[in-house]
Amino acid sequence: MIKHHPSSKLLAGYAAGELPASIAIGVSIHSHMCPQCSGEIEKITNQISEQLFNAEITSKTVYEDEQFDTSLFNIRDNHANNEAAMDMEFGNMIAAITADDEISEQSMVRNTSISIRGKCFELPNALNNVRMSNWLNIGKLSRSSLNLDEGAIHSHLLHIDADGEVPTHTHKGFEITLLLDGSFEDEMGTYHPGDFIELNGEHNHQPRTKEGCLCYTVADDALQFTEGFHKLFNPIGSLLY
Ligand SMILES: [Zn+2]
Repeated sequence: MIKHHPSSKLLAGYAAGELPASIAIGVSIHSHMCPQCSGEIEKITNQISEQLFNAEITSKTVYEDEQFDTSLFNIRDNHANNEAAMDMEFGNMIAAITADDEISEQSMVRNTSISIRGKCFELPNALNNVRMSNWLNIGKLSRSSLNLDEGAIHSHLLHIDADGEVPTHTHKGFEITLLLDGSFEDEMGTYHPGDFIELNGEHNHQPRTKEGCLCYTVADDALQFTEGFHKLFNPIGSLLY
């Protein structure tokens, strides 16, 4: 059962379309696995569209009241102009959508499943059209970078093979981990598919897995290894970022 959910701030940002693509993908995947959060997103989306609708009515009423003071012909002319403008906008919109279709058909890369260490995983829909790098293996860890072009924000698929672990580390920035398959545990508990875990510099943890796991991760800075031996291996942190 899912115990860890995106914060209400992230859900609101998602509904408003304000999140960076990588984080929006994480929230989208989680909400498809979590009825509670998908219900919450639907509620916020309805609130936003209601606000937009009300704002539109208010501005329309003000606009028409202003016009009412002038002659009837002006109102008719304005309506005619508005309709022409709307037709043009609609035309532009259709042209834009069609143009988008052409581009996406040409460059579409569909990954519906991946195969790693002899195991096949179905990918969530949100990842089907995202380009991924080849897998890089470091011991029991394998990672593939997602090509989302977001500057400092990097996202990966991370697979940890059975009985593998990530050395104890903290984060300079934030780290979001969404568990897609399998399970892992750290000092704070055991995680199951769908769990959305948000960490920052206040957290120090050592994820380990008995059965193996596949995660979607987003981070905006390299991991910082904090314990003895692994301090020497901070380059691994950069590889995982
Ligand atoms: Zn949830």
